[in-house]
Amino acid sequence: MYSPIQILSNNKKCGRSLNLPISGHCRPTKACAFCCYARSGNTVRPGALKKASYVSKYLVGKDLGRLVDECSQLQHVRLNGTGDLLPEHVRSVLYIARRCSDTKFWGMTRKVEIAEALNGRLSNLNMLVTVDATSPASVWDYEGRMCYGPRRPGDVVPSDGRLVTVFPRHARGRVVNGVKHHPKDCQAVWHKISGCNVCGRCWSWKGAK
Ligand code: SF4
Repeated sequence: MYSPIQILSNNKKCGRSLNLPISGHCRPTKACAFCCYARSGNTVRPGALKKASYVSKYLVGKDLGRLVDECSQLQHVRLNGTGDLLPEHVRSVLYIARRCSDTKFWGMTRKVEIAEALNGRLSNLNMLVTVDATSPASVWDYEGRMCYGPRRPGDVVPSDGRLVTVFPRHARGRVVNGVKHHPKDCQAVWHKISGCNVCGRCWSWKGAK
């Protein structure tokens, strides 16, 4: 039976991440579906797709020892670096975060119910809800911390203290033409910093009210 050498994946910007499938997992908005970074490049190679499918099934299982071992050696782990979490993953994510109390677990989800199930439980686990200009109005009822992205040319980011980070639309490593700077933009997207390991805003939630 297939089993990857490592369950976590490596990402130049974000560090180590738990990559999940898009199919059957994401609930994309119109803008998200159009701009999705996980629909091209390394993440759509057969090996990456196979591994993402494995990870989703692994998180539903009961033996999480290998992932605990990997995560416990890291300072931070991004959840769903690709795809999105399912309700049946919540129990395992909480278990792993409890077992790895010195590791920060962070990420973004389009699903308010996932953020509500994970946030406020553990000091080392923080999930942002992602919104964009095409999100359903109901998502703005969420009272927790959020991020905004993709921010396309012409999109106006609401002045809202819940927003921690803004992600300008980028493709092939570059912000697309016509997108201006926003004060809450992820600086790594603009190549002003090397990546999340020197920032941490998305898990420390600095900048939000
Ligand atoms: S704002 Fe910081 S922590 Fe968030 S994605 Fe960008 S570099 Fe990483």
